[in-house]
Amino acid sequence: MFPVIDAHNHLWAKWDTLGGVVEAMDDTGVAIYCDLTSNVSLAWGGGGYIISPGDIQGFFSACASGLPHRFYGFTTATLTPPPGPPLFTDAAEFLERTLVMLHDHVARGARGLKALKELGLQYHDGAGRLIHCDDERLGPVWEEAGKLGVPVLIHQADPIGFFQPVTPENEHYDTLQKFPAWGFSDPKFPRFEEVQRHYKQLIQNHPRTIFLLPHLANWPENLDYVGQLLDDCPNAFVDFSARIDELGRQPYRTREFFIRYQDRIFFGSDMPASREMYRFHFRFLETFDEHFAPPDYDGTFGRHRWHVHGIGLPPAVLKKIYHENALKLIPGLRADWEKT
Ligand SMILES: [Zn+2]
Repeated sequence: MFPVIDAHNHLWAKWDTLGGVVEAMDDTGVAIYCDLTSNVSLAWGGGGYIISPGDIQGFFSACASGLPHRFYGFTTATLTPPPGPPLFTDAAEFLERTLVMLHDHVARGARGLKALKELGLQYHDGAGRLIHCDDERLGPVWEEAGKLGVPVLIHQADPIGFFQPVTPENEHYDTLQKFPAWGFSDPKFPRFEEVQRHYKQLIQNHPRTIFLLPHLANWPENLDYVGQLLDDCPNAFVDFSARIDELGRQPYRTREFFIRYQDRIFFGSDMPASREMYRFHFRFLETFDEHFAPPDYDGTFGRHRWHVHGIGLPPAVLKKIYHENALKLIPGLRADWEKT
């Protein structure tokens, strides 16, 4: 209905697949695509995925200069080492290294800073203590992003079921059997509510920084909470990527939420680009179709947890969610938009 900015996705340095991504975008009216992890590569294995730091220059060469105005990228700076060793033993040295890299990547064209959920869930300091996202040793990083005028997209927690015991009663039982590394019920991990507490504190600690909270702040099961979070934190915005299952099973409440917070929600899919995947999103947002199957987390349609119902949003709201809100949030994007 309107051109779309997919403001939450990942290319994972697979530059050879770019042609297919662009084809899917062209066929479905996706004008611009954000690679949130332009300096990270990823492989599947170990019952989940394995991340490793990469070189942001690959993104700039393949996308930003190869396909001008269709792609923009965020940097993760130093915040994406594989979990295991301490994130830092010398906090001051780590902070300095992070700020240098953030400055360098933003100067070269990165439009934001992205932090993965491993921060707050898995990364430890040299003394073996978990590093929460609102840890004061990292505070200057978020402050600096605010000063540079780039938003911070930070993923914290995951669906509630991922934190609950892996039994047939768990609504994500099948997923957790398929990806055992996504389960955080082990008491060595912090509890879901604790992660959410630190998340909100982080946003409130840095009111001059824009925070983009993916997956409805990872609490789409509780839209009352997400609404309160948006009310309390004017510097927070949400995407609904990879959570249409949770939204589409409560279509009346979701529709009300999307209309009420129409200026605070931006479009993101977080799934490999395909015609079917994008068309599913449009069907959910634009129609009142009932009981249709959503894609799995990897964007394929072979497996789903339950069926969903469309929320038939009014055109004025769709326009904001499809691109107007992202154009306001992402620095430099309007210039790209005008050239696409
Ligand atoms: Zn993502």
